[in-house]
Amino acid sequence: MTLNRRSFIGTGAVAAASLAAPKVMAQGMAKPRVLVIGGGAGGATAARYIAKDSKGEVSVTLVEPTREYFTCFFSNLYLGGFKEIGDIGHTYGTLAAEYGINVIHDWAVEVDRDAKTVSLAGGPVLEYDRLILSPGIDFVEGAVPGWDITAQNAMPHAYKAGSQSQLLRAQIEAMPEGGVFGMVAPPNPYRCPPGPYERVSMVAHVLKQRNPTAKILIADPKPKFSKQALFEEGWQTHYGGMIEWIGPDFGGQNVSVDPQGMTIDIDGMVEEVAACNVIPAQKAGRIAELAGLTDESGFCQIVPATMQSRVDENVHVLGDATNAGDMPKSGFSANSQAKVCANAVRGALTGSKVFPAKFSNTCWSLIDADDGVKVGATYEATDEKIAKVDGFISETGEDAETRKATYEESLGWYAGITSDMFG
Ligand SMILES: Cc1cc2nc3c(=O)[nH]c(=O)nc-3n(C[C@H](O)[C@H](O)[C@H](O)COP(=O)(O)OP(=O)(O)OC[C@H]3O[C@@H](n4cnc5c(N)ncnc54)[C@H](O)[C@@H]3O)c2cc1C
Repeated sequence: MTLNRRSFIGTGAVAAASLAAPKVMAQGMAKPRVLVIGGGAGGATAARYIAKDSKGEVSVTLVEPTREYFTCFFSNLYLGGFKEIGDIGHTYGTLAAEYGINVIHDWAVEVDRDAKTVSLAGGPVLEYDRLILSPGIDFVEGAVPGWDITAQNAMPHAYKAGSQSQLLRAQIEAMPEGGVFGMVAPPNPYRCPPGPYERVSMVAHVLKQRNPTAKILIADPKPKFSKQALFEEGWQTHYGGMIEWIGPDFGGQNVSVDPQGMTIDIDGMVEEVAACNVIPAQKAGRIAELAGLTDESGFCQIVPATMQSRVDENVHVLGDATNAGDMPKSGFSANSQAKVCANAVRGALTGSKVFPAKFSNTCWSLIDADDGVKVGATYEATDEKIAKVDGFISETGEDAETRKATYEESLGWYAGITSDMFG
């Protein structure tokens, strides 16, 4: 690869490249090949939209290790007993059978951007014309002293859904009477800004019924958090006295854990915990790093109009692995970015019209039964970043009917986004 391509950063140049005449669509030539790594909110949506809208003109391959994807969205509702694990599991059969996507269940282990190939753990080497990466997050090693990935069974993160969510739910249910549930909350930026606080609400919902003298302790390195006033109001209303939040002013930044001894040390105060949810600092999924697409922030810089990597015009990055400007890391965001990306990729490979990029996001959180709140915004692509246009947030003191309607809206959203991802 030339120095020129490696240092490719010009937004204008990328936009022009996307709209340039396709190089692989002449009659008689092989179909252009799109390879998608990661079958989550970003990857599954992008694969489906490219396959659906190109009507067979583009060959789409999706690489995803798991046969059943459990959404992190609504995994907190699973912890709270509002959903069962089967309700949040989705498979890839429809993408293969109805959209003609070649779904390969394997890990991508190496990306050769010069040769435009991706090696899989199982051996095959796949070629691409455009690569889309949506590998989600990995954890920053050493972020919480005392914790590493080998401690994930003793102190689950449950920040990738599935068996981790099941384990955490079992541990919450097994807590002894009056025990402490500890949470180590992550620093910014991390996936789903309201996620830890919705989780605490759901844990409190369970404990209130099963173990009302139990306590919840949150050690947080951040001075404030998403929808804070709404959560604090809800915690006071539904779970008065059960939840204690310790921010950086009171030592929430200086935290270590002992997974064997089941203790948490907050600025020298050692607390025994019956269950402990450690959510470490985050970075882009490892394959993005291996592909040389991340910078010192740990995330990938993208061109907002197309979601192309700023270091390689043939690679697009989506979702939590990106630095998406004003957009939070959420499933809704990843899904929205995937549609912009699919449109740009199809335009580049088949000459179809590319529409101006528009993005949106809403994050709903459940505080207690029928008590839902939300925050959301719309965004546009500027040369510099994905920039917020306007936004909204639930208000404190809303009536029960409004909160119930907000929760019901989230149920509709879940059904909509999962069918948008998996067909
Ligand atoms: C507790 C919690 C609650 C949440 N609630 C909400 C919510 O209510 N609303 C909302 O919008 N968002 C929510 N989110 C956030 C949302 O889940 C993520 O933002 C979203 O899943 C990001 O999509 P993604 O495509 O970037 O990554 P993911 O959906 O995580 O998909 C990444 C995929 O890539 C695969 N992968 C990784 N590495 C490789 C590799 N080397 N080779 C092949 N495949 C690979 C993984 O197996 C995975 O399936 C929540 C998150 C959490 C943790």
